[in-house]
Amino acid sequence: MRMALRCRLYTPRTARVASPAHVKEIDTVLQHIARTIERGGRLTVLTGAGVSAESGIPTFRDAGGLWENHSLEEVATPEGFRRNPDLVYRFYNARRRALASVEPNAAHVALARTEAALGERFRLITQNIDDLHERGGSRRVLHMHGEVLKARCIRCGGVLRWTEDLDATHVCPNCHGPLRPHIVWFGEMPFYMEEEIPDALGAEVFVSIGTSGTVYPAAGFFAEAQSRGAVTVEINIEPSANAAHFDLVLAGRATEQVRRLAGAIGASGLDSPAPPEKPRS
Ligand SMILES: [Zn+2]
Repeated sequence: MRMALRCRLYTPRTARVASPAHVKEIDTVLQHIARTIERGGRLTVLTGAGVSAESGIPTFRDAGGLWENHSLEEVATPEGFRRNPDLVYRFYNARRRALASVEPNAAHVALARTEAALGERFRLITQNIDDLHERGGSRRVLHMHGEVLKARCIRCGGVLRWTEDLDATHVCPNCHGPLRPHIVWFGEMPFYMEEEIPDALGAEVFVSIGTSGTVYPAAGFFAEAQSRGAVTVEINIEPSANAAHFDLVLAGRATEQVRRLAGAIGASGLDSPAPPEKPRS
């Protein structure tokens, strides 16, 4: 896959907005997608902060790119962690604690239903570090930016499930090395870039949901999928930096538009019961 691999932020010089012509073609494209899936096509979905936001997890963007007046550079880079590890631990402790008061939403559930309907033909890549997809019923989730409910040993690389606060006093049970949040920071390599994600980007249908299109390499996934022949769909509350390049843009809340898409391919589960009880420990 020929794309920049390290996690970085991209600010477009001029935002491009989807043309109204897209809107007229919605049904045509949805029918095409439905036929493609019916004939055995694969579907890959990339989710971003917009999906979690509808469950009440604020995005950095909402907070003006700041947390308690600390910048993204301070809390989401290896340099920031080296300079002030306690601040970084506190930041992710707050993210971890916040999960206790949120629930998966209809978009999470619709994606889980789609996975149940399509099985191996469905791939879910998420930039989100929360566990809402899993709690919504998804079985296989590629957390490319890591998981806030995991810690990683800096010495041996061992990954542990972690539900409590994490700080510098905690050590790896295997080698007694120091632990860090299992999160991909800016400048680091996202997970699953060697095999799983390139494989998923070979799908016939690629859908990007709730992502701003400014964090690479994820923001380039649609282009990779498109170059390999995929129909591409964007679902976002407002058109992303790359919206004009998608085959279809469904503007609106993920909770509504994902169900619309899932409905088109017969996997909506709209009348199904509420999501399963969250398996929290
Ligand atoms: Zn270790």
